[in-house]
Amino acid sequence: MRAFSRNGLLLAFLTALAALLAALHFGALEIPDRFDPRAALDVASEPNLLTGLKLRRARADPARCFAALEQSGLQYEPVADRSTGQGCGLTNALRLRGGRSVALSSPALLSCRAALSFAMWERHALQPAASQRLGGPIATVEHLGSYACRNINTGEGSTRDGRRSRHATADAIDVAGYVREDRTRITVLRDWGGDDAEALFLRDAHAGACRFFEGVLGPDYNELHADHFHLEVGGWGFCR
Ligand SMILES: [Zn+2]
Repeated sequence: MRAFSRNGLLLAFLTALAALLAALHFGALEIPDRFDPRAALDVASEPNLLTGLKLRRARADPARCFAALEQSGLQYEPVADRSTGQGCGLTNALRLRGGRSVALSSPALLSCRAALSFAMWERHALQPAASQRLGGPIATVEHLGSYACRNINTGEGSTRDGRRSRHATADAIDVAGYVREDRTRITVLRDWGGDDAEALFLRDAHAGACRFFEGVLGPDYNELHADHFHLEVGGWGFCR
């Protein structure tokens, strides 16, 4: 038996949608921030379908970015804007001293938007992968650098007329390894190619970075990345 025609169903759906939108618009309906696309990004909140949208919006707006970062548990202090050469410099940047639950091998200059992606990655990908694959958290993230006024390295060295690297605006960080609480190290160079727990952890950390950064390059991309993950924001989106 067909209770409704197709047009009838469509009409009912559109009516319900209009009523829902009106209720939302006039504030008659409270929806939790997690499920409200207009709500600010909450770094602590378990990611869902709206997280990517909220993260992109926060990265695009310095005020939103710093507001989200303030709640993230990251250890940092803002640094003043400065230009350091053509296509190089710091805008809405900070000195990251540590994550929420990881130390950094040394402080890193990062744009707010890159630090926000780091916060999401640490909390929702890196430490969960460490718990699952290694049975405990990562204590320290070892990196090779973040801010550097240079062009993209093509393998023949940086070219004079090449495009600026995301490192030139502190929108990227190169992560080379991890130290566990028992002080054992896991390095991209040594452990990426294996099939043990350390290798599985690295693969999860890499895949997780692709969820929260806009560009990720690792050992499978080319020789230049044999010893680190390049994690960046502000690009077109790649995960290699
Ligand atoms: Zn890099």
